[in-house]
Order: sequence, then C-alpha cells, then structure tokens
Amino acid sequence: MDLGIRGKWAIVCASSKGLGRGCAEALAAEGVNLVINARSDAPLQDTAAAIRAAYGVEVHAIAGDITSEAGRAAVLAACPAPDILVNNAGGPPPGMWTDWARDDFIKALDANMLTPIALIQAVVPGMMERGWGRVVNITSQSVKAPLAVLGLSNSARAGLTGFVAGTSRQIAGKGVIMNNLLPGSHATDRIASLDQRVSQQQGISEAEARAARQAANPTGRDGTAAEFGAMCAFLCSVHVGYMVGQNVLLDGGGVNATM
Ligand code: NAP
Repeated sequence: MDLGIRGKWAIVCASSKGLGRGCAEALAAEGVNLVINARSDAPLQDTAAAIRAAYGVEVHAIAGDITSEAGRAAVLAACPAPDILVNNAGGPPPGMWTDWARDDFIKALDANMLTPIALIQAVVPGMMERGWGRVVNITSQSVKAPLAVLGLSNSARAGLTGFVAGTSRQIAGKGVIMNNLLPGSHATDRIASLDQRVSQQQGISEAEARAARQAANPTGRDGTAAEFGAMCAFLCSVHVGYMVGQNVLLDGGGVNATM
C-alpha cells in the first residue's frame, strides 16, 4: 500500500531509539523527510546517519530536551511547517501514590501532557491553513488499563487524551487528522528498566521478570519498535482521513476487554 506521504516533512520527538525511532524509520521508509530529536547528541546523530543511509531521506537531528521551551524552540526552528508531528517523550518514573508530591505531578504533566499540547498549538494552525496535516501522540496502554505503579503516567496521559478527544474534532474539517497510539509492552530500554525494578522488588532475575510479563500476554512476547512504527506511519498516511481522535491500542491483546 502506498501511504501517499513521500516528500512530506515530519517532526518525530524523542526518537534516537525505542518507539520514537521505530516511528521515524517507518516514515523514512515511506520517503518522509525528518526532524528527529533526543537529549543526548551522539546517539541521535548515529540514528540520523543510519536513517539517511538506509532510506535516502533528509534528516535533521536536533539535540535538546523536548519538555523544555528551548528544546521545543530548537526543533520548531529546524522545521517550522511540518506536515506530520509525532509527539513523544520519556515516561515518568514508577512509584507509590503516597510518595508523589506536587512537583512530581507537575514534571509528569509537563513532559507527557503540556509538551505535546504546546507542539500541537505550534504546528497545527499552519497545517490547517495548508489544508493537510497528521498528528500522532504516543501515549500508553495505561490510558485504557491503568498500571498502578505508573500513576504519574496514568494521570498525565489521561489529561492529554482528554485534550486530543475534543481538539481532534475541531481540526479535522481542515484536513488535520490527530490520533493517539497506545503502546503496551514493547521491547525497548524503557520496558527493560521497568523489568529491572520488578526483579529488585521480587528478588527474581530480570530475565524471569521479563518472561513472566511476556507469558501473561496473549502473544507471549513483546511488541517491536518496527511494528509500532508501521502503525504510526499508517496513522500519518493519506488513508486515515476519516479516523479522528481514536486511541489505537498496540498491546498484543494484553488489555482484556471486548472493545
Ligand atoms: P526508550 O526506549 O527509553 O526511548 C526514549 C527515547 O526518547 C530516547 O531516544 C530518548 O533519548 C528520548 N527522550 C527521552 N526523554 C526525552 C526528552 N525529555 N526530550 C527529548 N528526547 C527524550 O523509551 P520507549 O520505550 O521508546 O518509550 C517512549 C514512550 O512510550 C515513553 O513515554 C514511554 O513511557 C511510553 N511507553 C512505552 C512502552 C513500552 O513498552 N516501551 C509502553 C507504554 C508506554 P535521550 O535519553 O537521549 O533523550
């Protein structure tokens, strides 16, 4: 299937590795030029070079913290009028609800709710003027089925989900389509760090923690960044013009629900 987005420009936030990189690579495979971003410059430059070599698209690599105003300004300066925006950032740390103070919530809200909203506000008006745009927000399975230890994430992502539900319907008439993509357990450094925490808490090895988590999933495995990226690219394609404000769950059937 031709996704119809060759030659377009995408900002993919937090994308030197993991799910963001999976999205960047899948878009590049469709001929989309990229602005990629992460805080550490060296791995980001390596990712940019690898994507240029593999797909022959233009890639600008902008190092900076996307949750800071300066980081967002640098990314937007590199691509003020993108056709596609993929919102992503690191997830908040796990913990216990009794331990989180106001500042912990503010930090989580900044990273996983207010940062994507700021970027949407920065680029969507231009997309609406030009009559075409795609926004994909990477959120989490926890929006549908909360993970108690990730209460900071549950809270911030629920806020973004509410914003997207209303806003996506205000912009669709101008050709700008916005949806959320919800990862379950995908094989990235993030999930490895969560396995590490379980192994410490339960006195088991990291491999045992991972095996137990995977055994509980109907597929018996983790998702891959490539699978995740392929769905992201489809959500950025010409074919999703009638799909507005949806929460697309990629979790191997982990959330046990009929709908
Ligand atoms: P990951 O493998 O740890 O990769 C995170 C990427 O984002 C890296 O490139 C990292 O580079 C960059 N990054 C992190 N914080 C950043 C910031 N403030 N500004 C700019 N770049 C930043 O994580 P992942 O598994 O791909 O997860 C991506 C998102 O999906 C997270 O919000 C995570 O909570 C969520 N999620 C993941 C899963 C899963 O199974 N993997 C499940 C549910 C939700 P630098 O460190 O150099 O900045």
